[in-house]
Amino acid sequence: MVDHIANVTVLGTGVLGSQIAFQTAFHGFDVTAYDIDDAALAGARQRFAGLATTYTRELAGGVAGKADEALSRIRLTSDLADSVVDADLVIEAVPEILSVKQDTYEKLAAVAPQRTIFATNSSTLLPSDLKRHTGRPDRFLALHFANQIWRLNTAEIMGTADTDPAVFARVVQFAKDIGMVPIELHREKAGYVLNSLLVPFLNAAAGLAAGGYADPETVDKTWKIATGAPVGPFQIFDVIGLMTPYNLMSHGDEDAQRIAGWLKENYIDKGHLGVATGQGFYSYPSR
Ligand code: NAD
Repeated sequence: MVDHIANVTVLGTGVLGSQIAFQTAFHGFDVTAYDIDDAALAGARQRFAGLATTYTRELAGGVAGKADEALSRIRLTSDLADSVVDADLVIEAVPEILSVKQDTYEKLAAVAPQRTIFATNSSTLLPSDLKRHTGRPDRFLALHFANQIWRLNTAEIMGTADTDPAVFARVVQFAKDIGMVPIELHREKAGYVLNSLLVPFLNAAAGLAAGGYADPETVDKTWKIATGAPVGPFQIFDVIGLMTPYNLMSHGDEDAQRIAGWLKENYIDKGHLGVATGQGFYSYPSR
């Protein structure tokens, strides 16, 4: 039996967890946001207030009512057992460290109702890496959002061979109910759909510039004019921030490490980390 989803608990209230919790509350669900201690919850309150401002500006035509209602539907707690008492669905967005996630699921499995569905927002781990620790592999899957969930509204849904198809279908419906476009994967794939496309694309663009074949501006111009895409790969790099690709590439093969060195020397060491710092491959003077 797969129950109707009404109460949602989000574990971790960082960049993505706060967005998932707010988006869910904005669409009328009761949300409990869990984080490890009072300091983390204080950070969460600030993030929720910032999201209320953003949603009001970008989605509610400047009228704060709906965002304020969303805020009132979010309960914060640092007590894990309390956070899941009534949970129909738990969405986990704790740090991307295998041992932290495994430990979180073991603690969660001990206190959550047996009916509760667990979903991980992990970007790089497979649900198979975690399912043993959940105590309910049939009610566990990945539900992966993109940063800036209110605008970039894909929700990639990926089960393991053990995931009950009814649970998968229920989570697909939930994704729609919170304003997402569900992207269903039939099998497990590291990187889901989006990063399976995006990572090689960005690597190829960086390889062209780092190898001295063409400037970033030329690469972007080519991509935009010849495909009609609104942005080029280096504009995407700037939005993501250069540190994440740098960290990934510096642990990669020889070619990837060469590109990482180029990124470090020409951009990172100069503080040009992307949109967030006002300068990356391009300048963002208003930031
Ligand atoms: P973050 O570091 O911003 O937030 C992590 C939160 O988890 C913090 O609030 C921290 O206090 C809390 N936390 C730490 N230990 C915990 C524990 N043991 N139990 C519960 N909470 C704990 O991280 P993030 O960027 O929000 O990423 C979270 C997850 O979302 C990761 O799995 C990541 O792969 C995924 N994700 C991130 C992005 C992104 O763009 N940042 C995009 C998609 C998916």
